Amino acid sequence: MTPVQQLKTKQKAEFDQLQHTPFHVYTERQLTRIEPIRALPEAQRFAMRVVANILPFRVNQYVIDELIDWDNVPDDPMFQLTFPQPGMLGDTDFNRMADALLSGDKQAIKSTASTIRAGLNPHPAGQQVLNVPHLAGAPLAGIQHKYRETVLFFPSQGQVCHSYCTFCFRWAQFIGDKAMRFSAREAQELHHYLKQHRDITDLLITGGDPMVMKTHHLADYLLPLLKPELAHIQTIRIWTKSLTFWPQRYVHDKDADELLRLLDKLVNAGKHVALMAHFNHWREMNTNIAREAVRRVLETGAVIRTQAPLLNHINNDAAIWSQLWRTQVQLGMIPYYMFMERDTGARRYFEVPLARAWQVYREAVQSVSGLGRTARGPSMSAGPGKVEVQGVTEIGGEKVFVLRFIQARNPDWVQRPFFAKYDEQVTWLDQLQPALGAEKFFFQDEYEAMCSGEITPRNW
Ligand code: SF4
Repeated sequence: MTPVQQLKTKQKAEFDQLQHTPFHVYTERQLTRIEPIRALPEAQRFAMRVVANILPFRVNQYVIDELIDWDNVPDDPMFQLTFPQPGMLGDTDFNRMADALLSGDKQAIKSTASTIRAGLNPHPAGQQVLNVPHLAGAPLAGIQHKYRETVLFFPSQGQVCHSYCTFCFRWAQFIGDKAMRFSAREAQELHHYLKQHRDITDLLITGGDPMVMKTHHLADYLLPLLKPELAHIQTIRIWTKSLTFWPQRYVHDKDADELLRLLDKLVNAGKHVALMAHFNHWREMNTNIAREAVRRVLETGAVIRTQAPLLNHINNDAAIWSQLWRTQVQLGMIPYYMFMERDTGARRYFEVPLARAWQVYREAVQSVSGLGRTARGPSMSAGPGKVEVQGVTEIGGEKVFVLRFIQARNPDWVQRPFFAKYDEQVTWLDQLQPALGAEKFFFQDEYEAMCSGEITPRNW
């Protein structure tokens, strides 16, 4: 056998093996049933339990077997991405939950968890107040409308993921507290709302991960968009991390082919269909099955745009990002966003200062070709909108961040450059100070008026 034939045989064997990987998930209760976890020191396992009693934990067998390098634990980025780390909580919170667990008092564990969670900013950027639209005077559950052109929809069957990311900014969706969860059981309200707002062009189906849904559920939400009265919805975006956590969804799952036919049908009917895929590290695209999944999705005519936050312990390195973008371009995907870790959940462990993020972005962009330079960022998805750090410069002897809105609650704010005092430690918009003698940022009064209810946030 030639070396090429040998390689092909090996790849086929791996592929066949993956066909039989069961979708089996583990949560906090089954942590010690995960084989490699049993080999870790008891103190490390206990620390994982402490964190997993506050922030959601869920991992599947494919991630355990194919993505994590267990010889490199705890530093392995895929391990950091999926398994709870002690630094994700502050010392006080960690010790409180550790004491509660040691006491064995279920009520104490529950109340300690909810007190700590409440202090972790479960719904950042005005999600539960400013983003929720109304229909006939009543708030629409499971829908967010922050930017004029785009509506986010949270289908009730899609409020879980194949595994959970430790850094997740949607963590509050997964902790079993219905008051903290966005979801909508009925598609009718969504379609009704879309019909009434003809300036909406993009529908983003999000979660959780909508790709956990059976194809027929997804079709119930998406096929009505082909009706003439919804022709103004030109783009269907589906937010997903399934290409990383369960690429079998597009290859071996029972309704994988049906899913691909659905995407194909939407594309052929004239919709632009984009999978908004999350990849935090190039390692996620290294398995044959992940590559096959990407190939099959692209074959339908859908595009895959990629996004991820810059995260300490996972991808805080320009070389990782350049390889990430290069691999994505090679596989036919389009790099779209580098985000800043949001001001919620385990941010203390993952966040990176804006100054550092800009350096990482700049170095990474410099080392890829033009086709890899399509990712915008570093960008903060903050209350007023998506704010990008465009650079650091000096104006009149003052060192400043140059910023712009990529998206904003008021479309008129978009693309206006504005300036903030340079500070090496700052990690988020609300820590920035106006520069060049200004007392406020140009959008501040209007945004505060939206927050106080003085003016309506969707005044388009
Ligand atoms: S896939 Fe997205 S929603 Fe799901 S846990 Fe990861 S970041 Fe959160």
